[in-house]
Amino acid sequence: MNLPRPVRKLIEAFERLPGIGPKTAARLTFYLLHVPQKQLESFAEALETLKKNTVLCSLCHNISDRDPCPICSNRNRDKATICVVEQPLDVLALEKTGDYKGVYHVLHGAISPLNNIGPDELHIRELLPRLKNGEVKEVILATNPNMEGEATAMYIAKLIKPLGIKVTRLAHGLPVGADLEYADEVTLSRAIEGRRKY
Ligand code: ZN
Repeated sequence: MNLPRPVRKLIEAFERLPGIGPKTAARLTFYLLHVPQKQLESFAEALETLKKNTVLCSLCHNISDRDPCPICSNRNRDKATICVVEQPLDVLALEKTGDYKGVYHVLHGAISPLNNIGPDELHIRELLPRLKNGEVKEVILATNPNMEGEATAMYIAKLIKPLGIKVTRLAHGLPVGADLEYADEVTLSRAIEGRRKY
């Protein structure tokens, strides 16, 4: 189809997003053609500042607008417990339960040999210095309950073992193969409460 170049370009941009096929990409693009210019500009601005105005917290590697992030710099959070998760969205899900008072460590992925993602592609190494000041008493491995998540948990548990720090894994009850971020709050709360020694 002979589409105007700006239209074609936006369709292509949408198509690169996860879960968006060619049809949806076209539908979104043609929808935006009817949106007032002002609204489009604020949309564009949001996109432009998305990465510019956010940083990774140098302690937990969560996405934040300041470093250290609000969770790491909160004096009421229990710094003796670190919960290791795959993605910033997992932090969001665990925070929603309101039950967890410790801090986090965000890996930004999981070990996946099929996709060429090894430990060095993740923020795993950065976890170790955090464990060496004697303050941390427990590391909760809250990676997803699927093959990649289990492999990642096992790898990290092995790294921590010589340090003599308690390592726990979220309890069963989480749907196997599903992502943490999709678990409901009650299930997540129970999974934290019933975590077991790993
Ligand atoms: Zn942080």
